[in-house]
Amino acid sequence: MIVGAGPAGSVAATVLARAGARVRLLDRAAFPRDKLCGDTVNPGTLAVLRRLGLAAAIEERGLPVHGMRLTGENGVVIEGRYPRNRIGRAIVRRDVDWALLESAITAGAMFEPDVPVRRAIVNEASGRRSVAGVVINGQGAGIATDGPERELRAPVTIAADGRHSTLAFGLGLARHPDTPRRWAIGAYVETAAAHTSVLGEMHVRHGRYIGVASVPGGLTNVCLVKPSRPGDPSLRDPASLLRQELAHDPWLRDRFADARLVRPPVLLGPLAIDLQRADMDGLLLAGDASGFIDPITGDGLRFAVRGGELAALAALEALEHGWTGVHARLAARRRREFGAKWRFNRAVRALVASPRAVDAAALSASIAPGLLRAMIAYAGDCART
Ligand SMILES: Cc1cc2nc3c(=O)[nH]c(=O)nc-3n(C[C@H](O)[C@H](O)[C@H](O)COP(=O)(O)OP(=O)(O)OC[C@H]3O[C@@H](n4cnc5c(N)ncnc54)[C@H](O)[C@@H]3O)c2cc1C
Repeated sequence: MIVGAGPAGSVAATVLARAGARVRLLDRAAFPRDKLCGDTVNPGTLAVLRRLGLAAAIEERGLPVHGMRLTGENGVVIEGRYPRNRIGRAIVRRDVDWALLESAITAGAMFEPDVPVRRAIVNEASGRRSVAGVVINGQGAGIATDGPERELRAPVTIAADGRHSTLAFGLGLARHPDTPRRWAIGAYVETAAAHTSVLGEMHVRHGRYIGVASVPGGLTNVCLVKPSRPGDPSLRDPASLLRQELAHDPWLRDRFADARLVRPPVLLGPLAIDLQRADMDGLLLAGDASGFIDPITGDGLRFAVRGGELAALAALEALEHGWTGVHARLAARRRREFGAKWRFNRAVRALVASPRAVDAAALSASIAPGLLRAMIAYAGDCART
């Protein structure tokens, strides 16, 4: 049973179905569905998808991204190309997620849309909790959260239900930390400017940042991430907040002077999630449900697709040999593959939160741009497959 048909869930479903497992993939949404994202798929994510034979649609439809342009306070601009001609793609998430889900269905996974999962079925034996499936709405498809319930049992449940995972939060495995408390506002805009950008863009300002990417269809994706608190009045009107931010930014204001929002922006937050533990038999976590990565480094999708694959391999191990040692081995693999990148992400997240550090980074960027270029390559997962 896989809950969540985003990239983590669909990749896990594909790997499991190809290996001969019976896979039931549930999502509360009907697909294709929108998802707030910066819409860049970095070279490392593409490499994982290519190895799994899942990259074709993204490579066909996405605009090539050859590197990143970073701007900072005081007019600092650094452009870094990905090494060895590696490229990423800019493509709306609706299309990425739909392509990955179609592959999962083709591989044999049974997809059920419009099924909101309410919680896990928990067994308690000798003081040890394990998961035996999930509880959904009793009367089939629908979004009602009250009314009758139905149990769906499975020997393995993969929680791939995203940042605010119903399963991980419901089991007390995840929580929002007190700090940082950041919100994201994402929108698509139309501008008169040409859409030929070959670089993704990250504009780092005191305490906040704005990601910009041209996507197919002549649109530009703009994502603002800023600190805030629940009830912050500025969050009540995300469109005005985004417009003000663009209008006051010396680098972006001319370019977005004629920008027209093509639909109301999406607001998401608080972003950060801390995973307390992930060692309940019967349950595996994948993607954002296994810990949220700050969007500043633009690599959440790599964690999602490779994390989905690793969770699927762990599921196969559990199905064949039982749960002994499965969590420990999965945790070790995740630490080995993701540990350094998690630390990098946390360091960049902390840097952006400190105005002094942002100024210091801008200064060092003008003195030693090579360091920032190396960071761009590292963020793009260029050395990894
Ligand atoms: C502002 C922002 C910008 C970003 N930009 C980038 C970027 O440019 N590049 C990049 O690589 N990463 C980016 N990321 C990160 C990336 O979006 C995530 O890491 C990625 O979406 C994780 O995939 P997932 O499959 O784990 O979760 P999701 O894509 O969130 O999918 C989870 C699925 O679970 C379903 N679900 C949730 N709850 C339930 C429930 N109770 N019952 C049934 N179904 C449920 C949802 O409907 C959804 O389809 C960004 C993130 C943010 C917030």
